[in-house]
Amino acid sequence: MGTKIIPYSDGEVIEWRWWSDNKLISFQLFASCFLIDGLLVDANAPGSEKDLRKWVNKLGGKNHINSCFLTHFHEDHAGGAPMLKKEFDVPIYASTLTVPYLKKGYKYRFYRKTYWGRKGQKSVIVEPIKGPLKTQSGKYSFELFPMPGHSPDLTALIDKKNQIAFVGDAIMYKYGYTFGGSSADLYEDISQIYKSPKSLYKITEGMDNLKIFVAHVGMVNRNFIAEKINEIEDLHAKAHKIQKELIDSGYRRQGKIVKEIIKEIWRKGELLQFKILSVGEISRANLVATLLKWPLDS
Ligand SMILES: [Zn+2]
Repeated sequence: MGTKIIPYSDGEVIEWRWWSDNKLISFQLFASCFLIDGLLVDANAPGSEKDLRKWVNKLGGKNHINSCFLTHFHEDHAGGAPMLKKEFDVPIYASTLTVPYLKKGYKYRFYRKTYWGRKGQKSVIVEPIKGPLKTQSGKYSFELFPMPGHSPDLTALIDKKNQIAFVGDAIMYKYGYTFGGSSADLYEDISQIYKSPKSLYKITEGMDNLKIFVAHVGMVNRNFIAEKINEIEDLHAKAHKIQKELIDSGYRRQGKIVKEIIKEIWRKGELLQFKILSVGEISRANLVATLLKWPLDS
């Protein structure tokens, strides 16, 4: 296991990262949570529990973390929440959409265990809120801003006055694969994923100092959002263009078309281990399929 504490803006926001050191992992991935004025945004993965407890104790327990908000139900965001509630009496908040997913807890597949811990997601009683969510000293007041796509319940927090946003997994570092295929609980549609950063970009117009905290990435600004929007638009146009060329040259089978598009856009073999380990739950083919399903003129 590894942990890392990253302070931003003179410690105004602190990111706590955790990653597994499972030998099977060739492609390292960390989970994050962010602390701002007593509010913890997300709770890291189930496997981080011991390390998270240590960190919270070191901070001073409930005096330093007096509430926790979950951006969505995925285990690498909600994993530490049952422990925070039980041992530190930290109230766990989320949008009304997230609450039912965590009522019962859930198990997940082998490859997710290698990343996020073997135990699975424990159940936790989450208090639904509509916002605004005030922090400990009253300095920050966050609106809830729905950003569905990566998961249907994904909800970001935005404080427009202080120009700070926490968006969880609503934005990815790079778009090369999506969840889908064999998995129903983790289905992503790129056309929906695209709409969320678009609307975030729109409602934050003129906020030149906006600090956006993204899970698995860190702190970014509005330009990063614009880059991601362009990246998706570019992939969308490319996938359709290549599909047209393939059909014009006689390709008929959709599976074959998707394979050829992947070959042309990305390096061959890249991320193959991910695809195999996840039994298709994560793959480039999932992404290409939803890129093609999304009409060009919409
Ligand atoms: Zn997620």
